[in-house]
Amino acid sequence: MQDTFGRHITYLRVSVTDRCDFRCFYCMSEEMQFLPRKDLLSIEELDQVCSTFIERGVRKIRLTGGEPLVRRGIMELIARLSEHKDSGLLDEITLTTNGSQLAKHAHEIKRLGVERINVSVDSLNPEKFAEITRRGNLNQVIEGLEAAKDAGLKVKINTVALKAFNEDELSDMLGWCGTHGFDMTMIETMPLGEIGGNRSDQYLPLTEVRARLEADWTLSPSDHTTGGPSKYMTVAETGQKVGFITPLSDHFCDSCNRMRLTCTGTLYMCLGQDSAVDLRAALRADATLGKLNAAIDQALHLKPKGHEFVIEPGNDGPALKRHMSVTGG
Ligand code: SAM
Ligand code: SF4
Repeated sequence: MQDTFGRHITYLRVSVTDRCDFRCFYCMSEEMQFLPRKDLLSIEELDQVCSTFIERGVRKIRLTGGEPLVRRGIMELIARLSEHKDSGLLDEITLTTNGSQLAKHAHEIKRLGVERINVSVDSLNPEKFAEITRRGNLNQVIEGLEAAKDAGLKVKINTVALKAFNEDELSDMLGWCGTHGFDMTMIETMPLGEIGGNRSDQYLPLTEVRARLEADWTLSPSDHTTGGPSKYMTVAETGQKVGFITPLSDHFCDSCNRMRLTCTGTLYMCLGQDSAVDLRAALRADATLGKLNAAIDQALHLKPKGHEFVIEPGNDGPALKRHMSVTGG
């Protein structure tokens, strides 16, 4: 699958639910209106859409959300997708999780063929963790991470860098990741959805973060890539990697290889743009999948060149109405 800018689409990110047991303050507002369950694609339908993408050349699938591990039937979906891995059509199934349910699921996830996962942790201070997630328990996530290690899952920690909130912790967190054998990715906050707060109070450019980390750690450029937007450095003292995702301070759209499916079957071609096609209607209208394939062709045609995020004083509202938890971060 190739879009009109010559980019090959080999990566599908699937938000399997918009619901979550946390309410991280940069991601959601306190009072979220979630989608009615009847609007969701069933597990069979999610499998059908993913399988069609795989047949058309997608080699990697990431399950995300909302919180993917609170979606009923998620293990069945992973099991079904694993069959494509066994047949050699798919290179990787992975997931991004807040870790709250990981202690329960880590071994099963690994058994079903997932090799690596991203776990989001924005603070290692229990009070701050509770504050940022509005209802999360750091201990539960740490237990989940222990279970993941024990199961043999490779873990990468995702951390959103937040001005005046966790900026003074980031260097210690990098050290903690090194001790546990985790890579780490730092992310700039993106202006997605109304969160009931001011984003320019949160936005911290990673150029600043990196300069501060370099005072404590020896970082050298790494050619490591996961096919995503993260630019990696190796931390000499720990041997682990640290990645920087800089949608605001340094765009990465020219090499974009992905599309994003929501739990209701809407396919977004860009995290930061509104263009979308409705795969649920196409799927339900035609059991032979002709309409689904035609809708995917239309999506390839519509994929925009890139996003246009800005966060600056006086210009710090959402670039888009939809939250990251809808499109899948
Ligand atoms: N609930 C899971 C989790 O937290 O890992 C998966 C979904 S969450 C939307 C995926 C990632 O998006 C997390 O690492 C989260 O920190 C990040 N994220 C959410 N809202 C964001 C925003 N506005 N800007 C940047 N990253 C965001
Ligand atoms: Fe939930 Fe993940 Fe959003 Fe936090 S970042 S509210 S854990 S979806």
